[in-house]
Amino acid sequence: MKVLKFGGTSVANAENIEKVIGIVKERLGEESLIVIVSALGGTTDGLLECGKLAATGDELYKEKLQEIEQRHIIAVKDLIPVQHQSALLSLVKKMCNEIEDLCNGIFLLNELSPRTIDKLLSYGELFSSQIITAAFVARGIEARWIDSQNIIKTNSDFGHAVINFELTNQNITQLLKQANDKLIIVPGFIASDSKNITTTIGRGGSDYTAAIFAAAANASSLEIWTDVSGMMTADPRWVANAKIIPSISYQEAMELSHFGAKVIYPPTIQPVLSKNIPVWIKNTFAKDEHGTVIKNDSENDGNIIRGISSINHIALLSLEGSGMVGVPGFSKRLFEALSGASVNVILITQGSSEHSICVGVDAINAERAKKVIDLAFAGEIAMQRVEPLIVEKDLSIVALVGDHMKSHPGISGKMFGALGKNGVNVRAIAQGSSERNISAVISTSDVRKAINVLHEEFFETSYKQINIFVAGAGNVGSKLLRQLNQQQKFLRDHLRLQVRVVGIANSKRAITKNEGIDLSGWEGELTNGNDSNIDQLIDEIIEKNLRNSVFVDVTASEKVAAVYERLLQKTISVVACNKIACSSSFNRYKKLKELSNEFNASFLFETNVGAGLPVIGTLSDLLRSGDNVQRIEAVLSGTLNFVFNNYDGKRLFADVVKQAQDEGYTEPDPRLDLSGKDVMRKIMILAREAGEKMEMEDITNNSFMPDECMQGSVNDFYAAMKKYEDHFKKIYDNAAKNNCKLKFVASYHNTPSGNGTAKASVGLQHISPEQDLYHLYGKDNVVLFYTDRYKEQPLVVKGAGAGAEVTASGVFADIMRAARVN
Ligand code: ADP
Ligand code: ASP
Ligand code: MG
Repeated sequence: MKVLKFGGTSVANAENIEKVIGIVKERLGEESLIVIVSALGGTTDGLLECGKLAATGDELYKEKLQEIEQRHIIAVKDLIPVQHQSALLSLVKKMCNEIEDLCNGIFLLNELSPRTIDKLLSYGELFSSQIITAAFVARGIEARWIDSQNIIKTNSDFGHAVINFELTNQNITQLLKQANDKLIIVPGFIASDSKNITTTIGRGGSDYTAAIFAAAANASSLEIWTDVSGMMTADPRWVANAKIIPSISYQEAMELSHFGAKVIYPPTIQPVLSKNIPVWIKNTFAKDEHGTVIKNDSENDGNIIRGISSINHIALLSLEGSGMVGVPGFSKRLFEALSGASVNVILITQGSSEHSICVGVDAINAERAKKVIDLAFAGEIAMQRVEPLIVEKDLSIVALVGDHMKSHPGISGKMFGALGKNGVNVRAIAQGSSERNISAVISTSDVRKAINVLHEEFFETSYKQINIFVAGAGNVGSKLLRQLNQQQKFLRDHLRLQVRVVGIANSKRAITKNEGIDLSGWEGELTNGNDSNIDQLIDEIIEKNLRNSVFVDVTASEKVAAVYERLLQKTISVVACNKIACSSSFNRYKKLKELSNEFNASFLFETNVGAGLPVIGTLSDLLRSGDNVQRIEAVLSGTLNFVFNNYDGKRLFADVVKQAQDEGYTEPDPRLDLSGKDVMRKIMILAREAGEKMEMEDITNNSFMPDECMQGSVNDFYAAMKKYEDHFKKIYDNAAKNNCKLKFVASYHNTPSGNGTAKASVGLQHISPEQDLYHLYGKDNVVLFYTDRYKEQPLVVKGAGAGAEVTASGVFADIMRAARVN
């Protein structure tokens, strides 16, 4: 004897039922079969909706009933040859009339009791099982329909009736003794109480019906046929890379289903476990796939964790108070109060201080629980020995399940580490002493992210997904996107990083796409994107709550720089090419660094100094290893270096500046470079990174630019420079006369400046051939670090210090750093 159960999708329409018939036929020769069927997918919900509409006086229920009727009539017509249809059609019609009568009654009374709901819902399985039986018979396959209401006996807890196993098992044994049928078809989910009134055994309960039959019949196996190819490592609707679990123990399957794995109704395992009957989860739509086998001992497939599941709509109830410490009986009274009010407890934690007990329950029961608990502890509450019960809602539980967890230390560390790194706040933790399950209560808004993070941590050692938002799609941004596109495959193959750009915005347009934007055609998509609004974009990023998120700012915009705090507080890393934030007030810079620490999110800005050159990274390596910076000498403006390397008094100074701008070396506003302000920002950032509390006012700027050049617009700036050509030529000639080159040098001294000189300054200097800074060509930058360890010969970082391509690659490197840390 074998028991097969087919779920709602498997019997949703004639086409699917044909597949079911095919599967049953294949097995018919071997053993006799009991086939349990659900209602046609969605029918139970549809019937419930009709009842609710009728109860609220909404006549729409009639239309909905019509739809249900039509659906079943179509199934009959598609499945049964015309000459055999009439009996079945009148049966369907008759049952539809009964449902209508029932709904009319509900409508008139404005009342829908659990008992009436059960009656109403029972029609779903009554329809499907009788249609399917007729379909077998019409194909010449002998099949007998049995009404489970006569077999499965329960108490009268409508909606969740409890099985009377003694009676039920007797009924099944008797049924099988009397009948010698090869094929019995049974409606799942429905039963009846001692007065023969219809009950149901919980939503999704057809699995349970099947298990009850399998256990009572001592079946050789139970097969649960559904729409996925087995029990998976996580809910496949949430985790794209969820994998089929080939083999799992009863206990593991039970834990996973109790904690939300909908593929099997939780009580299903118990009856088959006691008889040691293997359960197969198979896919009606891919019948030859292996599926999952649930049995006594699962094979050790090397994975310590077998699966991850979650339950939503959880409320956390906390009973706290100094009066609870060391006083026995508090928990007993708490649980008695809960059980008296029929509140099922899903999770329990108690700190060893005994100062508080925390229980997780279905949110539906929260108010009822509060009432009974506050009542039970009214005396203590009045004496302020216990606080009134604290109820928190909008919570979910995520659970890691695996038999082999107990022999492996560090699982919970890994679990909470991964959640913490992604900013998922854990409200309560429970670990059963069986160590088969670790559960955490978290905010429902974090649950999708949490499950994906945990799945990645425990099952996808091969891949880690990074979700990137890029603000700015200009010079650097477009190069960055091209580089990311080029490297995607390499990162996947070699670093096991799955890099997705999930948002791109410029000042006009914005696009976002959770599954990742196609980087070979982003320009077109962006042109057709939505209007761009940075605050809305940030709201959206926070709302999406994707794991390992990195926000990349390749703009020079104040508005964009203003959003970093919000992102870091949500554990979204920030990679900034934009210098505005780090060169704003010291307090803001410090705050951002602190937020990055506090919320476990990277805040990286290597390209703020020296474009793609590893300047800040080198400095932080020195400091981390205990070195101490004494002095920094640097040429930090690619633009100014380019200008003074190319200006020889023969071409106009203004023309050389224009060339630098045209070749993409300057800031969007070239005056920032020419004034020395950009260099001031850079040396300040370096000084701050070296531990100095520095502001822009603390830096001396020996500017070579006439004031008049810095007034008005960029066009005015070019015109004024032409006017001052003589001034620039004089500066050049003076240097050339001494056989020197002109370099715009930034310096920082870590020594206390008792004599009032600034610790940092920037300005043009004559550099002679024997000096380090002399041999610096094109748009190169150089930074000389003089430290305790590099005293006489500095540590030198030198190379191209401007240009979109190298800047983009510096940003890219920061993204990788952020990804590694996350
Ligand atoms: P049926 O109608 O066949 O009883 P259900 O909808 O009750 O099917 O259960 C199957 C569904 O359970 C799958 O389509 C899948 O979306 C969902 N599911 C949730 N968690 C898991 C899991 N861990 N493994 C497999 N499926 C799961
Ligand atoms: N039809 C019922 C439900 O949708 C039972 C089941 O399908 O298992 O809950
Ligand atoms: Mg189900």
